[in-house]
Amino acid sequence: MFNEEMRSEQPLRWAMVGGGRGSQIGYAHRSGATRDGHFQLMAGAFDIDADRCRDFGTNLGLSADRCYADYLTMFTEEAKRDDGIQAVSIATPNATHYPIAMAALESGLHVVCEKPVTFTVVEAEDLKRIAQKHNRIFGVMYGYAGFQMIHQAREMIQRGDIGEVRVINMQFAHGFHAQEVEKNDPGAKWRMNPAVSGPTYVLGDIGTHAFYMAQLMTNLDVESLCCTRQSFVKSRAPLEDNAHVMMQFSNGAVGTLWASGVNAGSMHQQKIRIVGEKASLEWWDERPNQLSLEIQGEPARVLERGMSYLHKDSSAVDSDRIGGGHAEGFFESWSNIYSRFGVVMKAANRGDQATIDATWYPDIDAGIEGVRLLERCVDSADNGAKWVKYHD
Ligand code: NAD
Repeated sequence: MFNEEMRSEQPLRWAMVGGGRGSQIGYAHRSGATRDGHFQLMAGAFDIDADRCRDFGTNLGLSADRCYADYLTMFTEEAKRDDGIQAVSIATPNATHYPIAMAALESGLHVVCEKPVTFTVVEAEDLKRIAQKHNRIFGVMYGYAGFQMIHQAREMIQRGDIGEVRVINMQFAHGFHAQEVEKNDPGAKWRMNPAVSGPTYVLGDIGTHAFYMAQLMTNLDVESLCCTRQSFVKSRAPLEDNAHVMMQFSNGAVGTLWASGVNAGSMHQQKIRIVGEKASLEWWDERPNQLSLEIQGEPARVLERGMSYLHKDSSAVDSDRIGGGHAEGFFESWSNIYSRFGVVMKAANRGDQATIDATWYPDIDAGIEGVRLLERCVDSADNGAKWVKYHD
């Protein structure tokens, strides 16, 4: 079991930028990072407001002098300490990811960054270059990718269990923004502002998750795509609250991605369906412990997490924390990813490239592909839903 024993090495000294009190995703980072003992929270620039940051950080048990007013001060001051931070997670609104990540890498820190990592592919590739230059790990928080049944599906597809992949259906379509909730919700408000959110809303906010998981499962490259996007709540224009993307993959497969915040009544509806020539697989994030396997001509089956018939040697089915029948969920998925971030960051510190190469984790390339998807979708949708090449 990947997570069963605490690593003998010391935890990495870790900090957060963003993720302060009341933020949507800060707790998930702290819970995921500290679960298996790979990271210890030592410092933070948690909040845009310095007083709130200090109050929040000291409540978490940090000393007041390590709760910083801003990230640049944190990186500078921590670098002067013998026990200064070694890694940082960035959980701030999208526009800030690039400068914060760049400053962190230049300060010699390993980075975990929220998605979408940047506004442009050029910026994301820049981060990759700087991470390589400083020999630092760059992880991207595609938090659903730690679910074990995603990796079971990946293993089955790679082994040819469903035959050649023909159709990939991706969707993440919730209903929480069916009305203009951003009027009273700061976390929703910045998502509708292009200066902060970037060139997209739902495509970047949630479409990137489903896209990454389909890429992870199938390992197929997109050749071209065609996107249409809408702002059903008019004040959100030019950002979309609904989008449909058609894709053509390099092996001849085709796919669709539906990203929406206006799917009234829906909780998440994050579903990935992979149709092969012999069978189909389907995974749904509201029932993450199950993977549906439908073989043509046979009764449908449901594969359950934690069972002996799963492919044990896949990279994350071995993340099992408790036997089948007990529900694992979102926080376990995050811990599975953060454990891998911890393993590869420690490996980088001791120059152990073999461990890095052998360990799956959502890396900067995954981040770059997410941003490329957004760039291409905007190019397509804003030019009359024309088909565009995915790669230059
Ligand atoms: P939020 O608005 O709820 O919280 C943002 C936090 O960052 C707040 O505490 C704010 O004070 C702080 N902040 C803002 N600017 C800052 C700065 N310059 N320095 C320090 N702190 C700063 O936002 P959120 O919903 O938590 O989203 C944050 C990021 O996480 C976004 O990029 C979003 O796309 C991503 N996200 C990812 C997932 C996932 O599943 N991986 C889920 C939700 C959000």
